[in-house]
Amino acid sequence: MAARYQAPKGTFDVLPAEEAARALVAEHAGRLLDAAGHGRIETPALEETEVFARGVGASTDIVSKEMFSFTDRGGRELTLRPEGTAPICRAYIEHGMHKDPQPVKLWYAGPFFRAESPQRGRYRQFNQIGAEVIGTDSPLADAELIVLLDELLRGLGIADLELRLGSLGSLETRAAYRDELRDYLREHEAELSDDVRARLDSNPMRAFDSDHEGTRAVIGAAPTMLERLEADDAEHFAAVRALLDAAGVPYRLDPTLVRGLDYYTRTVFEFSCGRLGAQSGIGGGGRYDGLIEVLGGPPTPAVGWAAGTERILMAMADAPLPQRPEVFVVCADGAAAFELALGLRRHRISAQFDLAARAFKGQMKRAGRSGARFAAILEQDGSLKLREMDSGEQREVDSAELPALVIAAREA
Ligand code: AMP
Repeated sequence: MAARYQAPKGTFDVLPAEEAARALVAEHAGRLLDAAGHGRIETPALEETEVFARGVGASTDIVSKEMFSFTDRGGRELTLRPEGTAPICRAYIEHGMHKDPQPVKLWYAGPFFRAESPQRGRYRQFNQIGAEVIGTDSPLADAELIVLLDELLRGLGIADLELRLGSLGSLETRAAYRDELRDYLREHEAELSDDVRARLDSNPMRAFDSDHEGTRAVIGAAPTMLERLEADDAEHFAAVRALLDAAGVPYRLDPTLVRGLDYYTRTVFEFSCGRLGAQSGIGGGGRYDGLIEVLGGPPTPAVGWAAGTERILMAMADAPLPQRPEVFVVCADGAAAFELALGLRRHRISAQFDLAARAFKGQMKRAGRSGARFAAILEQDGSLKLREMDSGEQREVDSAELPALVIAAREA
């Protein structure tokens, strides 16, 4: 006999009990973003690798080690999208959205892929909800988006949230700062981790993300980006902070906040949740004023964020109840139960019935376990009783009246 197939650990399955919670998150996010004027956009899961290599940056962790890339039969280099912003900018350019009234406000939700070693809260395939405002450099857009993400998370009952906020300045100041930081780190090269040392030339700012003790000590005394902001970037950052203060959204300034994507400029932010353990990042983003130009479009400032659906679900205090039927049909005759339940469903009433030929008592037990509000008990003599499961109250009803009675009870 062939050996039994064993799925690798970390296989991503969403079971029915979780789908209800997912639908609730998606609906909440859609309502919020729609009300803020964001139109939904969908881009394909497969993109040309160059979109990410250029857009996210070749030296980032995402591009250098986390992408699922392959060459297709026609010799094209393709990648399963690891993030949503670069593809959206590609679409913005491709569809001439820069000719539309600016800014263009978009949102998206869907699966993303990163070659990671799966663990709790970190998957190879995961889902993100994201929002972008393209075509304005106003600090109002940064603040509006941060407030939206804060509302999205709090509206789902997520507590223990922390918002960290930083600014990376313009691409030019950031480049000058990067050189300064590189020179500083080089002076302390012996104390740094191998990983950080290997990327000193390509991406010295990643040293801020290191867990290595020696690196942390060196970086703790390094000059920070916030100290080097040019006057207009500092002013922009002050305006974002003032707007967040006015909106009552608390944040902590974090001069070491470096997001894992190369394209960020000016504002960067990240929400984390204390309930999530090691993978505490729940959503984040920032301004990417240089990205559209890098991808071949006109110079266009933009800002956005992405939040992880799985982490949102893990952080939610009260998981919504799994789908409960409104009515469980109990009847000794399976075919009669089938007919009654299907009739109820035609009235958009969720109804279930026993599929295992259980005796009456067994079916009543199933009705209780299903969480149904009512049991519709069809007796052998054709009489029908409607039983409210919580109170145990039961009365005889006419089968023609049944749908109307159940629907009326929804409002009661
Ligand atoms: P990032 O684009 O890395 O900033 O990710 C944005 C959000 O997506 C994070 O805050 C997480 O909530 C989520 N996320 C990123 N990578 C993963 C992953 N491998 N598994 C699950 N969620 C993820």
